Amino acid sequence: MKPVLELFRVEGRVAVVTGASRGLGASMALALAEAGADIVAVARNDNASLKLSVESAGRKFLAVKADVADANAPSAILDACEASFGGANILVNNAGIIRRAPFLEFTGKDWQEVMDVNLGAAFRLSQEFARRLVARHEKGKIINIASMLSYQGGVRVASYTASKSALYGLTMLMANELAPLGINVNAIAPGYMATDNTEQLRADPARNKAILERIPAGRWGSPDDMKGAVVFLGSSASDYMHGFTVAVDGGWLAR
Ligand code: NAP
Repeated sequence: MKPVLELFRVEGRVAVVTGASRGLGASMALALAEAGADIVAVARNDNASLKLSVESAGRKFLAVKADVADANAPSAILDACEASFGGANILVNNAGIIRRAPFLEFTGKDWQEVMDVNLGAAFRLSQEFARRLVARHEKGKIINIASMLSYQGGVRVASYTASKSALYGLTMLMANELAPLGINVNAIAPGYMATDNTEQLRADPARNKAILERIPAGRWGSPDDMKGAVVFLGSSASDYMHGFTVAVDGGWLAR
């Protein structure tokens, strides 16, 4: 058995991170690079500073511009990855969007678009990623990015709650079927993190105050708070973990 800190290293592995152009995805991509992985960053926009940071960490970086809601995205992303680096071993399904409106006014468009990105894309990309790993007789790691709304209802975010609750269940389903094939599937449920996704909440003084009062840690999370959990779940340190959703939430769920 390797010394324990060696188990957290992911040298020689290739990590695909969706939604890596900013926010939590950019931070998790950098964490995996710092732990040794080459990075395939998927989003509709570039992030030049992430490329610089990954390369400064001594790792290779490939940006793949894709809309993960597109049914052809999984093949395009994984083909590009194979052409540059060979097959991927780690997949982080992080790309996500949110739409806010009262339930009585929630539109079909805001329902479908969120479900397609937050849930459908994770299903399709995980399936293609796992099929290719199995064909290569390799092991791998899938990490889904869930939410506090995988556990709770929330308000004004019908499609977001539905997608994240379903992703929590899908994580367990995939773990049950893929563990025997050598693929670990787990999830991280971030709490309230300061990114574009929560800009409206932080800009509303009453909501901001109510949220902060309920977080035992007494602060919003930062993208850097995701780094430890993603490296743990992407590395051999978590080889016997399957189907679990780890909260990184400043204690929100414990309250
Ligand atoms: P963010 O700052 O809004 O970033 C979202 C990322 O997803 C961006 O890189 C965006 O890139 C990408 N993305 C969105 N739609 C896409 C699409 N159709 N195709 C490809 N990429 C797409 O959000 P975040 O806060 O970092 O959230 C990341 C994940 O964590 C999401 O799944 C979110 O639900 C989850 N989460 C966040 C919080 C929080 O408090 N912030 C809490 C719980 C869970 P482009 O716009 O360049 O495509």
